[in-house]
Amino acid sequence: MSKNKEEKPVDVVLIGAGIMSATLGLILKELQPDITIAIYERLDVVAGESSDAWNNAGTGHSAFCELNYTPEREDGTIEISKAIKIAEQFEVSKEFWSYIVKQGYVDKPQTFISKVPHISFVWGQDNVEYLRKRHDALDDCHLFSDMQFTDNPERIAEWTPLVMEGRDRSQPVAATCMGIGTDVNFGSLTRCMIKHLAKQEGVTLHLHNEIKELFQHKSGEWHIEVKDLHTKERSTIHAGFVFIGAGGGALTLLERSGIPEAKGYGGFPVSGQWLVCKNPDIVSRHQSKVYGKASVGAPPMSVPHLDTRIINGKKALLFGPYAGFSTKFLKQGSYMDLPLSISLHNIRPMLSAGIRNMQLTKYLIDQVMQSREERLDALQDYLPNARMDDWELEVAGQRVQVIKKDEKEGGILQFGTEVVSAADGSISALLGASPGASVSVSIMLELMGRCFPDKMNSASWQDKIRQMIPSYGQSLADNRELLENTRNHTSEVLGL
Ligand SMILES: Cc1cc2nc3c(=O)[nH]c(=O)nc-3n(C[C@H](O)[C@H](O)[C@H](O)COP(=O)(O)OP(=O)(O)OC[C@H]3O[C@@H](n4cnc5c(N)ncnc54)[C@H](O)[C@@H]3O)c2cc1C
Repeated sequence: MSKNKEEKPVDVVLIGAGIMSATLGLILKELQPDITIAIYERLDVVAGESSDAWNNAGTGHSAFCELNYTPEREDGTIEISKAIKIAEQFEVSKEFWSYIVKQGYVDKPQTFISKVPHISFVWGQDNVEYLRKRHDALDDCHLFSDMQFTDNPERIAEWTPLVMEGRDRSQPVAATCMGIGTDVNFGSLTRCMIKHLAKQEGVTLHLHNEIKELFQHKSGEWHIEVKDLHTKERSTIHAGFVFIGAGGGALTLLERSGIPEAKGYGGFPVSGQWLVCKNPDIVSRHQSKVYGKASVGAPPMSVPHLDTRIINGKKALLFGPYAGFSTKFLKQGSYMDLPLSISLHNIRPMLSAGIRNMQLTKYLIDQVMQSREERLDALQDYLPNARMDDWELEVAGQRVQVIKKDEKEGGILQFGTEVVSAADGSISALLGASPGASVSVSIMLELMGRCFPDKMNSASWQDKIRQMIPSYGQSLADNRELLENTRNHTSEVLGL
């Protein structure tokens, strides 16, 4: 390493220019204006992987319509704790985004957030009963108090006409609707945040620069080896704190860091494809995000949905994602990513997670083998009159589900996100994907609590965090008035 060119040391290195690094970098810079930050991104663009609008579903996950956040317990009751947590976390994200809009860091909120109703739609008597119970359970919590339920096909046709057109009216159906749902262009938001950040004194952005190695010196400082993908030159930068915000690439770098906390983690890649509607008449006639129930074995982020999107000011309609399998950890990664990630410390958790998740394996094989006709069948569950000529298949972003060592089970497959940090708080990585970008602000605040505990408790940081996120430290689920004030404020600032 010593023969590499030495860059000027910085306080913080952010690996990857996606929504997570952008959020962490911006919050840190607001809290400590003299902090020095270097951002490294292997692509020649910001937000080119999962954070790009065409690579994710752009749902502002608030648990309004995503049925996987409200599973049915064995006794038939509905578990809503995860839904409450996600709904609160999304409000926190909106508070932070309102702050950056008010500060003028983003030109117009319409460039990244739009109001799009969130609808859950199910068919079959059992699913109708599930949705009714889910609505009743959520109705007790004011985060969801605007949610409407119906099992009347005419009413559903008012909410989402195309879903009911051509449908057999004898089929039992039900839907819920939340008018205050959102579509978020996380790519646009990330680019705005990083553009602002890169203009600040002490911040540098290095595109087309890939982090290859990293190790911690005895002093506690991190030495990070960078390859400039244009010139092929290597350099070394030293930092007090490293955030591995490399999306699907985070697992590989976490393993390279050598921290004991990284041991026992593995990753299982799930790729995805969308059908994108090419018929402007159909696009204009649909105006909501319609989420259904996942098939048996499906990973949570492969729950099918018919999705109105606003991407760069233009309305689009997507259906999917259809899950698939690829050994790449990043959309623009290498087929060797999965094989090279397997080592002695994670082979047992990975094998036992594989054995325990045969339904997922079967589901993925079925999805990969799907014919054009089978894809059309899945689409027609939502749009009975759909014709394949109106749709084109596009590749979505790549997700890496976390596999974690477990004393009892050997290894478990985890569908959420996981922050892995060194005990000394000098390095932290974000693994996993869902609910991801929507809750990026809460995830980064959690990470900061672990890595900068003293500063997070200091009066100056606490005051500043409350300026950015007025509800910080309070429960929106327990305080109706606080939620109302917060939603009124963010809706006004974000133009929702
Ligand atoms: C199909 C799909 C649908 C989704 N739908 C939603 C949704 O509806 N709502 C939602 O909230 N979330 C959704 N997500 C999740 C969301 O997209 C992610 O949580 C979020 O984008 C992750 O951001 P990130 O910054 O961690 O990663 P990324 O945006 O992937 O950024 C990581 C960056 O690191 C770079 N990188 C990797 N390795 C290196 C290296 N060695 N050196 C330098 N740079 C490196 C990559 O090139 C990349 O630009 C979805 C994801 C997928 C794939």
